[in-house]
Amino acid sequence: MQSTLNFFSYILLFRFVCESGYKFILKIDNFANNFNKTFMKRVLAYFFIVFVMASCSKKVTFTQSEIDIINNRDSSLIMPLFTVDDPADTSVLRAVAADLSEADIQSDLFKALKERMLATVQDTTNEGVGIAAPQVGVSKRLVIVQRFDKPGEPFEFYPNIRIIEYSDEKQLGKEGCLSVPNRSEEVERSKRVVFTYLDENSLKMVKDSVDGFTAVIFQHEVDHLEGVIYIDRVKTK
Ligand code: ZN
Repeated sequence: MQSTLNFFSYILLFRFVCESGYKFILKIDNFANNFNKTFMKRVLAYFFIVFVMASCSKKVTFTQSEIDIINNRDSSLIMPLFTVDDPADTSVLRAVAADLSEADIQSDLFKALKERMLATVQDTTNEGVGIAAPQVGVSKRLVIVQRFDKPGEPFEFYPNIRIIEYSDEKQLGKEGCLSVPNRSEEVERSKRVVFTYLDENSLKMVKDSVDGFTAVIFQHEVDHLEGVIYIDRVKTK
């Protein structure tokens, strides 16, 4: 009787070990399968993103209305300014500007846009110290800033600019804007900013920093690329 019981116990134990082993193997197999699938999905997604980025950077992304604005000129290079007084202009001024592709930067359109934006900010009848592409109706990440911190105070171009650091230390200064005619108000800005932009020649991202009044111009112009106008930052007393 005792040995029969033992025999059944062994059978049950043997069955338990076999079943557990089988379940364990199934689990491992499932895990490996899922891992393979996830891994393959990630690899495919990576190649897709690289492919999309590569094909985007090879395409000129200016819209037809932007091309018309850049090409439409009389004898003067100066472009009509988009202002907050006009509802249609305001919708462009309030939009978030798009990045320029490598193809954009290498195009004749970009060259013409730069030349015309420079002429516009230097217009002696309505001079500015900086201008952003949306202010002439082109919703692209391009600004011109007069570098008061450099010898000769040159106007410089910054494609795909982004401010990546704002100092906690602030400064208060009077600002005006070519898109907000006949107004100027006090705005609080960071004393120092760090920014990145795409170098036109090397097509590599470059990092730079500025402070003082030049930092104010950078903050004002980069705001334009986010659809923000300085009047949004005026503190009501
Ligand atoms: Zn402005």
